[in-house]
Amino acid sequence: MSDRIDIEGLFGENVFTIRKMKEYLPKNVYKDVEKVINEGGELSKTSADVVAKAMKDWAVEKGATHFTHWFQPLTGITAEKHDSFITVPDEEGRVLLEFSGKELIKGEPDASSFPSGGLRATFEARGYTAWDITSPAFIKEDATGKILCIPTAFCSYTGEALDKKTPLLRSEQALSEQAVRIARLFGHDDVKKVTCSVGLEQEYFLVDRKKYLEREDLIFTGRTLYGAAAPKGQELDDHYFGAIPERVGSFMKDLNVELWKLGVTAKTQHNEAAPAQHELAPIFENGNIAIDHNQLVMETMKKVAERHGLACLLHEKPFAGVNGSGKHDNWSLVTDTGMNLLDPGQTPNENIQFLLVLACMIKAIDVHACLLRQSASDVGNDHRLGAAEAPPAIISVFLGDQLDDVVEQLVSTGEARKSKRGGKLRTGVSTLPDLEKDATDRNRTSPFAFTGNKFEFRMLGSSDSAAEPNTTINAIVAEAFCEAADRLEKADDFDMAVHDLIKEYLTEHKRVIFNGNGYSQSWVKEAERRGLPNLQTMVDAVDSLLSRDSVKMYEKFKIFTKSELESRAEVLYDKYSKTVCIEARTMVDMAKKQIIPAVMKYTGEIADKALLVEKAGGRGDVHSGLLKELTMLLCETQDKVEKLEKDLETANGIKAAKEKAFFYKDNIMADMEALRVPADKLETMVDKNIWPFPTYGDLLFEV
Ligand code: ADP
Ligand code: MG
Repeated sequence: MSDRIDIEGLFGENVFTIRKMKEYLPKNVYKDVEKVINEGGELSKTSADVVAKAMKDWAVEKGATHFTHWFQPLTGITAEKHDSFITVPDEEGRVLLEFSGKELIKGEPDASSFPSGGLRATFEARGYTAWDITSPAFIKEDATGKILCIPTAFCSYTGEALDKKTPLLRSEQALSEQAVRIARLFGHDDVKKVTCSVGLEQEYFLVDRKKYLEREDLIFTGRTLYGAAAPKGQELDDHYFGAIPERVGSFMKDLNVELWKLGVTAKTQHNEAAPAQHELAPIFENGNIAIDHNQLVMETMKKVAERHGLACLLHEKPFAGVNGSGKHDNWSLVTDTGMNLLDPGQTPNENIQFLLVLACMIKAIDVHACLLRQSASDVGNDHRLGAAEAPPAIISVFLGDQLDDVVEQLVSTGEARKSKRGGKLRTGVSTLPDLEKDATDRNRTSPFAFTGNKFEFRMLGSSDSAAEPNTTINAIVAEAFCEAADRLEKADDFDMAVHDLIKEYLTEHKRVIFNGNGYSQSWVKEAERRGLPNLQTMVDAVDSLLSRDSVKMYEKFKIFTKSELESRAEVLYDKYSKTVCIEARTMVDMAKKQIIPAVMKYTGEIADKALLVEKAGGRGDVHSGLLKELTMLLCETQDKVEKLEKDLETANGIKAAKEKAFFYKDNIMADMEALRVPADKLETMVDKNIWPFPTYGDLLFEV
């Protein structure tokens, strides 16, 4: 048997692709679908029926038994409720398989159990899912069988968004309208639509599943709440890009196949900086689809890991003192005529259209820095942002030498006469080729970096949905484009006006440009001097959603209403409190039922042995010294547990969501840190055979 993987054959095998639509649909119906995908609007009822039947026929041929409206509620993960294709049996007891246009287009899941931030009172818990025709339907295969999944948006009875997809789609529409205006200013009258392209690099950890199941904290919270550092960490830098261990390799091989079948272009794979950490990146594609696909990537990683006796950790900071995981959001803007608006060309100084787009983006990022920061915040990401491994919590833009120089020329003289070139890189070995150098080096420490022909937003947390950050980028760029187009469309002398506008924007907003080391302490001071916001945590950032500028922008471009924003703020506070509460309870549980009993057992054994040793005429000094230290730490642990329990009671008495979240952040988090200290110290002293759960060494180095 050959073990050749037929990528071409299996790619998209489980997706109802355009090609399959062409094959299964009558020509006129296919044309209708194509029109709605490209231009918007609605499919007629008759066409919808035909599409539904074709989709069902295809899915049933492939062995599907159920369909589901697949959606993305505010939990940040996906939701699905399966319906089988069967209908009421006929008189002879035969069932038929059916799927109607109505079922394809609209679903009515009971919405009362999803977070809504008070948008939809439970008594009117109607929610609707609506087919997103722009993201292809696919079949998911797992132990449940094969399920036809229809990507959908999720809204309330009154049309308010209850999910992550609806605002994203609204933002893409707004961005397209405004970006078309910019393209037209430069004579590109054929441009009708502009889409954002998104490529999401996904970091993750893999640990042994048996060991994972021995740790309550990993099971309940996705991260370790206790754990002393292993003797070895990542100090040798020997893991990054290192050879991939066999078990991980076979996981990656399976993962790729599963993803390819789902039409996800899994492209790169490598070991990341921390031990047991890895990364996967697909090829970029249309934003909405890329974000749906990222959800599938995360879900598939977990599933495939299980098959290999592994557990995939997507938490942003599964291990203290070891690098955490992020998700890099590569973002660019492409017209329906194939032009990348972020491509500077060889001589960016002459590319006025590019410079206008760049100036607008710099302005947008500076004006809405808090919103961007907010969009990438998540409970887990608080452990990462601002630590010396991830971008700081301060938003800044990296442009690189070439563009920085162009901006400098524009700001100081009003004109950019030249662009720096990359030149040749000489290897110094006659048999090695000299390499053409990029005009710009990389900077890995910037939260928002220009990387050649795209921006890379590096703040996202690994487990978080990428919908929010992209909604935010789309919205703020749409606003900046709109303001520029409003001015430039009216200008008598376009060349002069565009020149002035670029200079004005860059001059006013260049404070957000920073090409230095974003991890350094001096940058924090420098950023403060420049007046750049530095929002430390997720809860500090929530309010920015409700600022006057934010509400004005989101309402103007019909992305969020004020009440939708208020509901989202409420959901975020709530999510924060609940997540930290679960973590705190888990810590208490592990301390009381595992750590304290283990230490008692060990100290009891030492005490017994000490007596025996002394009775036999030996010295018990080591025993008693150790005993003293252990029991001291044991008392400390007990005190900290009691303090945490007491504060948890107070926290749960607080009613207002915001006040509660702040209490969790300021008090409970601090209590948790304090409890961890003596417990981790104990771990380093207690007999390994008695310690109740696997250590960092066991988890990180034994995969
Ligand atoms: P690196 O780690 O050097 O940033 P990767 O190959 O891991 O590079 O990831 C780069 C990501 O950026 C990939 O998902 C890639 O498809 C994506 N990408 C490349 N060009 C663009 C573009 N023009 N727009 C959006 N994403 C892009
Ligand atoms: Mg990468």
